[in-house]
Amino acid sequence: TPLSRIRNFAIIAHIDHGKSTLADRLIEACGALSDREMKDQVLDNMEIERERGITIKAQTVRLTYPARDGNTYVLNLMDTPGHVDFAYEVSRSLAACEGSLLVVDASQGVEAQTLANVYQAIEAGHEIVPVLNKIDLPAADPDRVKVQIEEVIGLPADDAVLISAKTGLGIGEVLEALVARLPPPKGDAEAPTKALLVDSWYDSYLGVVILVRVKDGRLRRGQRIRFMATGAVHTVEAVGVFTPKMVTVDDLGPGEMGYIIAGIKTVADCSVGDTITDDRSPAAEPLPGFKPSVPVVWCGLYPTDADDFEKLRESLAKLRLNDASFHYEPEISAALGFGFRCGFLGLLHLEIVQERLAREFGLDLIATAPSVVYRIHTTRGEVKELHNPADMPDPSTIDHIEEPWIKATIFVPDEYLGGVLTLCNERRGQQVDLTYVGNRAMAVYRLPLNEVVFDFYDRLKSISRGYASFDYAMDGYAESDLVKISILVNGDPVDALAFIAHRSQAEKRGRAICEKLKELIPRQLFKIAIQAAIGSRIIARETIGALAKDVTAKCYGGDITRKRKLLEKQKEGKKRMRQFGKVEIPQTAFLAALKMD
Ligand code: GDP
Ligand code: MG
Repeated sequence: TPLSRIRNFAIIAHIDHGKSTLADRLIEACGALSDREMKDQVLDNMEIERERGITIKAQTVRLTYPARDGNTYVLNLMDTPGHVDFAYEVSRSLAACEGSLLVVDASQGVEAQTLANVYQAIEAGHEIVPVLNKIDLPAADPDRVKVQIEEVIGLPADDAVLISAKTGLGIGEVLEALVARLPPPKGDAEAPTKALLVDSWYDSYLGVVILVRVKDGRLRRGQRIRFMATGAVHTVEAVGVFTPKMVTVDDLGPGEMGYIIAGIKTVADCSVGDTITDDRSPAAEPLPGFKPSVPVVWCGLYPTDADDFEKLRESLAKLRLNDASFHYEPEISAALGFGFRCGFLGLLHLEIVQERLAREFGLDLIATAPSVVYRIHTTRGEVKELHNPADMPDPSTIDHIEEPWIKATIFVPDEYLGGVLTLCNERRGQQVDLTYVGNRAMAVYRLPLNEVVFDFYDRLKSISRGYASFDYAMDGYAESDLVKISILVNGDPVDALAFIAHRSQAEKRGRAICEKLKELIPRQLFKIAIQAAIGSRIIARETIGALAKDVTAKCYGGDITRKRKLLEKQKEGKKRMRQFGKVEIPQTAFLAALKMD
């Protein structure tokens, strides 16, 4: 395909504004799938994505569109995730395209991630076509939203395309706008091969599948290719595109997007953002890569059954291939044994990874309390990064501690603003800016990340009845009065439950955790003391009373099956428990204990 007939575009939007629905409509309109194949939301194909209704992995589809100018165009569509934790995926999709469709829900207007995504698209040099969706809704007010787009984002919105992705209204106009308003890709078919490694994942039948965007030259079957960052060399076994079905093609030329399979076994060979070139006539310079993603939340992941450690290691390696923003390293816990310290872009990311490990790999895991990355300045002038509260050095060796801060942008209807400001202040927030966009406030706050990772998002949503939207960016480190709080069960510290908090919050948090654990740990045959301590000073205490001796005793009479069922149920429960001294703690306690309200 000549470059002039190719358009590569991303769809960006705040969550729930209709990206995936629009993508489905575009696929449908281009006849890429038969009706039978056109299931709901074909792009959100991971099970978790369907259940939660969110897009996690960026997806790509090649469409063929006969335009009104009589020419047939190849449209490469990338669907992107909208949630704040997945901004990294968004930036990768954007680097592979020349333009974006900015979808805004015409009944909701501009939201926090509308803004965050559009700034990323502008930074990527994109041409942007605003699309106002859901105009079928009675509450839709496209004129008001156009003004918002111009005032808040500074983007001309006069010729925004008005659509309903639900009914299909305006889809033809979107396709025409793509062809007419987005620039074609640039590239040189005769130059040495340069292709951007956009994404890669592990497929149990095909092995490693690599998503590429060719900039110069070609990729074809049989070609010896080199990964410029790692130096690894492989032979291309198959080249293809997603329609969204996988379809093999002869080759991929400049401006094109597709996949390659090259018999790659080592997951470490495929680093996202790398440049793929021809081994015999390599390019002189690699393409500019992506900014490496920096995990901001860490937690330990341990197999419930210690025998699953190797399986966990393999699963993490596969997952990492599928999700470049996920990091991990081996770790040993006194309480939990062998496991991994894992780094995430946020708490939702953490939950999704945990769920994927459970579902896709059948692993039963215990997660320890999530922690941000602290900087410890020792009295000897060294700076150490602390990923795990359990590793906090002796306070006498610490000169001071710094914690990470974020700059948060919150959009909220006026009537909920008071509650949101109270929440930010409770979380040690510093107001940077407060302005109005119509009847909605835009509050900009600096907040310690530590105060945000656990439940800030949930609290914000409940305070605003779901109407507030939130986005954040890292905003440096600052010194802070932080202490480590240990949790003791019958006098023994449980390293996996240790956490770090600001001194002013320590007592409140310690008490809340003890109370939570009292609810979560089932009664056992003896009394259990749960304490929170800073060093040797106890700051909170709860006691769980002892249990009556035999649970089956109450099944008097001869009902054997009922008794057996009860025992089996107990056994099942046991697998999900961890033994601490004599005390058994259910795995749900570990994450739940740190989610406070
Ligand atoms: P995404 O998070 O941006 O991918 O949003 P989805 O495509 O998953 O859509 C979010 C919700 O909005 C779903 O319940 C859709 O059915 C609904 N939706 C999408 N487009 C429209 C539309 O044009 N009109 C109406 N009424 N609902 C829509
Ligand atoms: Mg979606």
